[in-house]
Amino acid sequence: MNINYTPLDTLEEHQNKRVPARFRDTDLDSTDTEFDALRAAFVTTNKIRHTHNGSAVTRVMAVLRTVGCAWDDGVSGCTMCDFKSYAVEGVGVAELTNQLEAVVRGFPSNVAHFELLTLGSFFHDLEVPREFRKRAMDILTAQPTIKSVLVESRAEYVNLERLVEVKARLRGDQTLELGLGVESSNSRLRNKILRKGLSDRSVRRVMEVCKEAGVRFVAYLLVKPHTLDEKDGIIDAVDGGEWISNLAKSIGVEYRIAYEPVFITHGTMLEQMFQEGSYKILNLWSIVSLAKISADRHWPVFFGMSDENLSDERLPRSCPTCSAALRDAIQRFNSSGDPSCFDGLDCACQEDWLRTVDALPSEYRAAV
Ligand code: SF4
Ligand SMILES: [Zn+2]
Repeated sequence: MNINYTPLDTLEEHQNKRVPARFRDTDLDSTDTEFDALRAAFVTTNKIRHTHNGSAVTRVMAVLRTVGCAWDDGVSGCTMCDFKSYAVEGVGVAELTNQLEAVVRGFPSNVAHFELLTLGSFFHDLEVPREFRKRAMDILTAQPTIKSVLVESRAEYVNLERLVEVKARLRGDQTLELGLGVESSNSRLRNKILRKGLSDRSVRRVMEVCKEAGVRFVAYLLVKPHTLDEKDGIIDAVDGGEWISNLAKSIGVEYRIAYEPVFITHGTMLEQMFQEGSYKILNLWSIVSLAKISADRHWPVFFGMSDENLSDERLPRSCPTCSAALRDAIQRFNSSGDPSCFDGLDCACQEDWLRTVDALPSEYRAAV
């Protein structure tokens, strides 16, 4: 499908962009907050496919509560993100350490992959102080079962020095991954609709820096962001997978793709469109279709079935009869990469879903 990858040539404009008031003159000792600054915002445990040997390993994803994302000043951040509503003022090294130690104490005994996320960027010094970045790696180095660690950041805070500093603190048998919210290969969708402020050039630069630092690159891609219908949601996700795979291979960086099926967050433009009826929630059969296409193309993918503890009507779903079975199968696919885990999953509602995607070009079709 012809997507016009209009480059955004103004990356520099986005660097050191506005700094919200809550970052200024912050008293890092303050704990006078609405949320508990000593507890992570979200923690999830499930299985993921080990990137080296393909076996299923236990994954823990934690989102540490920080002062929030510097990109989101409450007015013009990314239009699908509600992380600002979970932020607290005055979170510094001590609070972050406390949060991480509490997450580590709750680790299952066999956790092998840990995603250390924050409400913004791990490499922004005002969100995550440098001292904590180093301390966090020391804490994770002391966990013998942990074999890979993922951190996430906006592109403008990623450079070779920061990646190398963090990676150097891990053990030799531990891998560092850098997650980047690419969201879509369509830069107009990414930057005009989602307000991501991320150029194609920056995606390439981050991949190149990862390659140089020996860090695996992880692209987050949304599945059906707002303004897309079911059919275009699949097309956009497949195009994104194709773009990232080709780019990563041409640069020679190790990579994987973390698809993020869109759910309805609170207080966002997405929520407004959902409530007005102009955005329809993603159907789980579309994820099944995308999983099969990805397997066919040998893309290393994972579907982040995160839910931020939201109610069911805000999450991707099919019908009440098959939703739970499809979610289970998608989780099994995450840990195996084997599309046969969808075999035998039939439901009457598939016909309704097929009608919503019947105009899909053949290259975006999977036998569902
Ligand atoms: S999606 Fe990421 S960059 Fe955008 S506002 Fe949310 S935390 Fe910030
Ligand atoms: Zn069904």
